[in-house]
Amino acid sequence: MNLVIFGPPGAGKGTQAKRLVQDRGFVQLSTGDMLRAARKSGSELGKRVAGIMDRGELVSDDIVGELIAEQLEVHKDAPGFIFDGFPRTLAQAEALDKLLAERGQAVDRVIRLVVDEDALLERIAARFEAEGREDDNPETFKVRLDAYNRQTAPLLPFYKDKGVLTEVNGMAGIDAVAAMVAQVLDLD
Ligand code: AMP
Repeated sequence: MNLVIFGPPGAGKGTQAKRLVQDRGFVQLSTGDMLRAARKSGSELGKRVAGIMDRGELVSDDIVGELIAEQLEVHKDAPGFIFDGFPRTLAQAEALDKLLAERGQAVDRVIRLVVDEDALLERIAARFEAEGREDDNPETFKVRLDAYNRQTAPLLPFYKDKGVLTEVNGMAGIDAVAAMVAQVLDLD
């Protein structure tokens, strides 16, 4: 099972992905987490992406594509993958299709967490206060949201046409969203 958990920043993708890791043993592949880890380690890659991430813009398709390709190799025997925060552009979606096709696989399901933008701004302002993640500051968050709307949301018709897109109300509580996600996966 290859699942893409889809939605704007702050929609709860990471939270739901972690639930699926716990409940189903899937491997979560979060490009945001990988990039943050690269920065923390002080690697060349980390240095290259720092400014871009701090501005709330997207790093290059090649960089995240390579990170995902590496992790697919590392976790060859995983029962399933949850792609969290990837793909974010059409080029990334096409690269993912290619990587999976090489393994005789495909994106089986895309679950879109549908959230209200105003509520999202409030949610992230609270997360910024609580966790102090620098790119959650209101100004940068707006840039991230704009990147989502301009570069990532256009992927929705791409996945809809493939017949793999399901929408879930991301405004419900964490447990309620998890239950809806589980229901979708159990139907597959
Ligand atoms: P996230 O935690 O998924 O919101 O990602 C944090 C930041 O990492 C984003 O604002 C981007 O700068 C970068 N990033 C993460 N995933 C991607 C991706 N798939 N494509 C481009 N940039 C990404």
